[in-house]
Amino acid sequence: MKLSQMSWITFKENPTDAEIASHQLMIRAGLIHKAGAGIYNLLPLGLKVVRNVEKIVREELDKIGCQELLMTVITPGELWQKSGRWDAYGDDMLKMKDKGNRDLCVSPTNEEAVTSIFQKNIKSYKNLPVTYYQINTKFRDEIRPRFGLMRGREFIMKDAYSFHLSWECLDKTYEKIKQAYINIFERMGLKYVVVDADAGAMASSEQKTHEFQVVADSGEDLIVHSENMAANIEKAVTFRKNLNFLKNTNKVEEVATPGKRTIDEVSAFLAAEKYNLLKSMIYFVFKNEETFPVMVCLLGDDELNEVQLKAFYSADRVVLATDEDIKKLGLVRGFIGPYQSAVSEILFDNQVELEASYIAGANKHDTHLKNFVPSRDLSTVKKSHVRLAKVGDVDAKEKEISITRGIEVGHIFQLGDRYTKSMEVKIPGEKGALETPIMGCYGIGVTRLAAAVIEQSHDEKGIVWPESLAPFKYHMVVIGKDQEFILKAFELYEELLKNGISILLDDRDLGPGFKFKDADLLGCPFQIVAGERDFKETGKIKIITRKTGEVVELAMNEVIKAVK
Ligand code: ATP
Ligand code: MG
Repeated sequence: MKLSQMSWITFKENPTDAEIASHQLMIRAGLIHKAGAGIYNLLPLGLKVVRNVEKIVREELDKIGCQELLMTVITPGELWQKSGRWDAYGDDMLKMKDKGNRDLCVSPTNEEAVTSIFQKNIKSYKNLPVTYYQINTKFRDEIRPRFGLMRGREFIMKDAYSFHLSWECLDKTYEKIKQAYINIFERMGLKYVVVDADAGAMASSEQKTHEFQVVADSGEDLIVHSENMAANIEKAVTFRKNLNFLKNTNKVEEVATPGKRTIDEVSAFLAAEKYNLLKSMIYFVFKNEETFPVMVCLLGDDELNEVQLKAFYSADRVVLATDEDIKKLGLVRGFIGPYQSAVSEILFDNQVELEASYIAGANKHDTHLKNFVPSRDLSTVKKSHVRLAKVGDVDAKEKEISITRGIEVGHIFQLGDRYTKSMEVKIPGEKGALETPIMGCYGIGVTRLAAAVIEQSHDEKGIVWPESLAPFKYHMVVIGKDQEFILKAFELYEELLKNGISILLDDRDLGPGFKFKDADLLGCPFQIVAGERDFKETGKIKIITRKTGEVVELAMNEVIKAVK
């Protein structure tokens, strides 16, 4: 491809709305163009990268027998109503009506659509297992679209879905796909971790789920690691060490704490460790048609893990109570506590030792309680791990944990019969009786990956693409005025092309400075620099490795051999 024939524009300045390297560089290198908040056009060179991502994904999935199909981007509301997700999905789903007043939506995901395809096409256990996949556009009206392709509202995803009649069979496919994902991310040269997205110690089911996280400071996810574990913080179960709980057997006693509402204020006022205080928070749990308030009690210096709270109640969602809600419930903000509380559903975090004594809110203005012992002073107590892991914690085997940031580029999940059951899919099993199949689903963020690779592979001059994803392997820059030399250089380009070499030729009428800057910004792995002056002096041209800056000088007629 010749740059003189392309409408490629690069930018010197970072766009003002771009906070992270990949977003800045993709705009500056002319790979993407912002159409609106969270929606981006892929420009020709950006599209090449995305196609390369797709190629790798496709090859690895085809290799293990997954079948590619293409589902519609617009899906009928009817399917979602059947599965119960039309209302439950939330406002990330973009809904609309057609002329005939029928409900439609822009697919945020496709479990319903693929289940209905399965239902009409697979009639016997003999056809199982089957894995369908597609590489297609999704739309999610994200609350905070940001970072360019990293968290778009419209984005390209590879989504795969497998169907089985036994967990054993699902396990086998799940492991095969997990390995395919490893192959995919290895081919892209990524540094990533496979994290357990399982509910860990509090798992109520055996359903496996893993996330593939690219390690990057700009990542939005937190990953908790130790020698024994790697888990998304949402799911991580870790423990505190060296806690000296109070063991006071005196009766519960009120203490005046005028104006002292926060953990910091009360612990300072009463000269107690923060973890000798209980932090009591009110949440509303939304489950099916039901909503109820729950008081969650944590050690004073711990934070709540909302995902674990939601999982404990198998809730659709959990929402923090507002000041007004708290008042309505008959509680006093800043002085909430589990003792003689108007909220009867109380959940303690596992780390709260129930036999120890604590300082807690007294549910009265300007008052706290001392000597509150949960196991003694409450008739029933519920307990679960609902705190956020933090630095200083240890894992279940008492090994130190560390926390790093990650970008979720893939997610695999054993769904079970969630969709097949609600959509009433049954097929005859081996013994003839009708059975409900179970499913797995497997996502990869295709456009997000292009950005994630840049987060890990760039320098102050621009992008440094791995060969497998680069828009071109070679970026040839021709510098000079002498027509004979220029023609000679162009001939070399034509010859490379004829030999099937992936190459971009900068034949624009621009100064060398511009051309070198653009080549570094675009980041193709190798630059072929044909400079008239060097050539006349030494008879050689240069091949520069973008990543290391290593230079090899070669005669023009040696280039083809070297490149091949
Ligand atoms: P996240 O937690 O980042 O919102 P998710 O859990 O909602 O992701 P899935 O529903 O599992 O994501 O989607 C599969 C994959 O699609 C993700 O692993 C991610 O790589 C990609 N993806 C999800 N949301 C977006 C988005 N808004 N923009 C770009 N890629 C996305
Ligand atoms: Mg999401």
